[in-house]
Amino acid sequence: MGRMERRPAGANLAGLRDHNAALVLSLLRARAEGGSRVQLAAQTGLTPQAVSKIVGRLLADGLVVEAGRGESTGGKPRTLLALRPEAGCAVGIELDRQRSTILLLDLAGTTLRRRSVDIGLASGEPERVVGALAKGVSQAVRAAPDGAKVLGVGVGCRGPLDYETGTLHRPAGLPAWDGFPLRGLLESLLDASLDVPNVLLDKDTNVAALAAPAAVSGSTAYLHLADGLGAGLLLNGAVYRGARTNAGEFGHQVLQPDGPRCTCGARGCLEALCMAALADDDPRTAARWLGIGAANLVRLLDIDRILLGGHQIFASPDVYLRAVADQIAEHLPEPEWQSVQVSLTPAGASAVAVGAAQLVIDSALGGI
Ligand SMILES: [Zn+2]
Repeated sequence: MGRMERRPAGANLAGLRDHNAALVLSLLRARAEGGSRVQLAAQTGLTPQAVSKIVGRLLADGLVVEAGRGESTGGKPRTLLALRPEAGCAVGIELDRQRSTILLLDLAGTTLRRRSVDIGLASGEPERVVGALAKGVSQAVRAAPDGAKVLGVGVGCRGPLDYETGTLHRPAGLPAWDGFPLRGLLESLLDASLDVPNVLLDKDTNVAALAAPAAVSGSTAYLHLADGLGAGLLLNGAVYRGARTNAGEFGHQVLQPDGPRCTCGARGCLEALCMAALADDDPRTAARWLGIGAANLVRLLDIDRILLGGHQIFASPDVYLRAVADQIAEHLPEPEWQSVQVSLTPAGASAVAVGAAQLVIDSALGGI
């Protein structure tokens, strides 16, 4: 059965094409020696015709090249295809409360340039903050290698926000940003001479989920524990955003109705329980709560890979890795059958900025 038949009903065709082209590229990214069309079809589950179409587009745009011939296995030798990492790049931004990170990523996922600035959502007037980001983007774009096509700018920011319109919605404790058209203002402030074709705004947790090498199949949940707690969901390899693009409010599941007050106004949210434990300098209890929430999520969506990130996780990584794995093993009826891989995000503290650039690359390459 082809990959498309396994997709959930209702996924739109543009989204599918993005995902499939991005998947082919991510496989080529992982194969320094290159890969043949036949190998790509076998690894993606796509039909050979679909792979040939995608490869044709990528060759025409100069993003991949033919790189010799592979070993013959009896038939005629296969043409190998290889990624040209230097053909394109994207700017990724993590817009946090107090700081922002702006980096430039090439097609192979290599960070070419990374800068942090002491300006964030809580720094003052939104117009001023976005103006500082636009300046940082200009500097990053001007540092792009000669001949590299700049595919766009991705911004990863805390929710709630609307991915379609690029506006924020009542982020906790940040009233000035309620309804603020962040994406539109950033687009308008970028110098036209920079030729940046695409600006995207997505939740920090969604983009961070994209910072790991794409899984060919199965579902990944990225859990981010920093000043708050949220999740990014890659279901069957594609970002799941939900009807209002606000899926992933993992931290606001109520686990203890008479528990501590949460920033959202409710009591006993998972986020509030984790934060209360961390305020008591007790990461083990926070990790146990996170593990309980993760086990619920695994059972609800049959997730097979959990990635952990955010500064609280990196402060005690082993405590969180063990507690999450333990809670999942404890709560799944058949842990041998429902094997779940738990690991730290390979992009570390840069996961949001790297993933924001990756979102732009996946989006742009699927659309060529
Ligand atoms: Zn809450």
